[in-house]
Amino acid sequence: MIPQTFPKASLLEDRAEIDLGLARVLESGWYILGPEVEAFEAEFARYCGVAHGVGVANGTDAIELALRALGVGPGDVVATPSHTAVATVAAVIAAGARPLWIDIDPASYLLDLDHLEAQVAAFRQGPGGDRLKAVVAVHLYGSMVSPAGLLAVCRRHGLLLVEDCAQAHGALWNGQRAGSFGDASAFSFYPTKNLGALGDGGMVVTADAAVAERAAFLRQYGWKERYVSFEVGINSRLDPMQAAILRVFLKRLDERNEKRRALADLYSRNLADVSEVVLPVSPAPGTAVYHQYVIRVADRHALADFLKAHGVGTAVHYPVPVHRQPAYLDFARDADLPHTDAVAGHILSLPMYPHLPPDDAARVTDLVKAFFSRSP
Ligand SMILES: *Cc1c(COP(=O)(O)O)cnc(C)c1O
Repeated sequence: MIPQTFPKASLLEDRAEIDLGLARVLESGWYILGPEVEAFEAEFARYCGVAHGVGVANGTDAIELALRALGVGPGDVVATPSHTAVATVAAVIAAGARPLWIDIDPASYLLDLDHLEAQVAAFRQGPGGDRLKAVVAVHLYGSMVSPAGLLAVCRRHGLLLVEDCAQAHGALWNGQRAGSFGDASAFSFYPTKNLGALGDGGMVVTADAAVAERAAFLRQYGWKERYVSFEVGINSRLDPMQAAILRVFLKRLDERNEKRRALADLYSRNLADVSEVVLPVSPAPGTAVYHQYVIRVADRHALADFLKAHGVGTAVHYPVPVHRQPAYLDFARDADLPHTDAVAGHILSLPMYPHLPPDDAARVTDLVKAFFSRSP
């Protein structure tokens, strides 16, 4: 069996060092925040190239707290893609704002900067246009949305930028790390992410000391001093055991991203001449960290069933765009996202994790080829 993802492989590789880290936390007597969390916050912020990191309970909270720390709140509007994890939009709404839906570029599956510009300009003309405050840009599947392109739109319209980096730990474009150019950025350390804990975790990173300070007190009831809330916050703290694990895996991140890239290259090489398969396109080749390797085919279900019958797991990221999900219909009455709607039924994520043996990846592409050569 070749699974679609396999986070336990990272634990098995680093078991001894992780056991030492966990023992250190247990012996320390600090079980909430404390030195282990602070050490990881500093190490991960430095890795991203920004001054501050605030460890939180998960990536969804990180997006909500990044928005709230920047002053986005009830009545505000935030531009966001619909082709993303539901968490992106759930966080916008948790912050009190509502989404302005932006379509994707159908080749890269990323936020379409031309559509962003057009939607922002049109919204600004309408009643309440000044309530549009921010963009949440998602570096989906490990591919970055162009930093220069995003910053140009945000500067032109006076918008704050939050990068959703939950799928892009370590991605680098022209020397700029994912997470380093937004006003604040959010990371998830869900186990299957490029940098994943063995449980939940997340972080807000920012170059702005005041934004970091505000995120840090909002993650703990809005306390500036113990037991006195100056704002209504939430409880969302990174667990020190997970911080100890993440410190070990951070040292492996570049090497593991390199393995993901090599696997993506292998897939792309082996599938290049299969005309029925649309391969993923990165807007800046060499910058992507391949959280997922996503192909597009006419009949996704048939291909997924065939692969499953031959012991290969696949997944779909994501089958229903957020603006089509029952809970979000009320927020989506005027959504018009043709590219988002067109791709959702055809995308398929092949197995992708750093410990996937290249021979197994080659077996996957052999099976994809076999499927199309026997198809009428
Ligand atoms: C995983 C993910 C999140 C949410 O992270 P959690 O830690 O699961 O809350 C947000 N956005 C994107 C794009 C993700 O992939």
